[in-house]
Amino acid sequence: MRLRLPEERPTEPPTGYKIAHPVLSQDGTRAGFTGVSLGGALPYGVLADASCVYGLRHRAPSRRCDCGFHCVHDRTTAEALLCTAEHRAAVLLEVTVLGRYIRFERGFRSARQRVRTATVGPCACGTVAAALADAGWGRPGWKALAPSCAGCLRGRTSVSLAGFARLAGEGLRVVAGQGAPVAVADLAAAGELGVPELTAEAALLQARLDWFQAQLARLGERGPGGGRKG
Ligand SMILES: [Zn+2]
Ligand SMILES: [Zn+2]
Repeated sequence: MRLRLPEERPTEPPTGYKIAHPVLSQDGTRAGFTGVSLGGALPYGVLADASCVYGLRHRAPSRRCDCGFHCVHDRTTAEALLCTAEHRAAVLLEVTVLGRYIRFERGFRSARQRVRTATVGPCACGTVAAALADAGWGRPGWKALAPSCAGCLRGRTSVSLAGFARLAGEGLRVVAGQGAPVAVADLAAAGELGVPELTAEAALLQARLDWFQAQLARLGERGPGGGRKG
């Protein structure tokens, strides 16, 4: 009989929570997330394998390193991180911990991860978010997104919550938080949008149209040639 270190063989993969910034690829065809601290330079997809953030040639997670996908056991612990000023625009992720993992006091570091649900907080104005819009920063090839209501979008690059879920793929659910279930995107089930999703999409289109018409009207006032007289 050999003595071994205790190994966990859970019947179901563990669930964890973390926060991250949603990101949209430069060409607008792919969506993912980027971490808020360690590993923030490496955007990841809904289903992803970890690699060492320090570029070391070991499998992540390694006991002698702090790489791997980090998450905590407790949803409230992750939510608490959203209170700090620099994390206000981040989203809460519920993840499935896959592959080898190392358990620590408050959570896990794992080799693989599947993001199941992203809960999007309110727009900076306090209104429930209808979209994720260009946050004004990013990583090479990726634009960071922040929650926005239809009214605050203006001309910014944006995707609806359902649109983000579709681009991210792998059955991701994107939910508007703050207890107002107006924009729940669950494309995993039937691949069809229900009334709440379509209502949210319509509100977004209307807001964009209002903005577009306002711009047109403004240009119209100035007249062709931008008001310059020769
Ligand atoms: Zn490492
Ligand atoms: Zn707003």
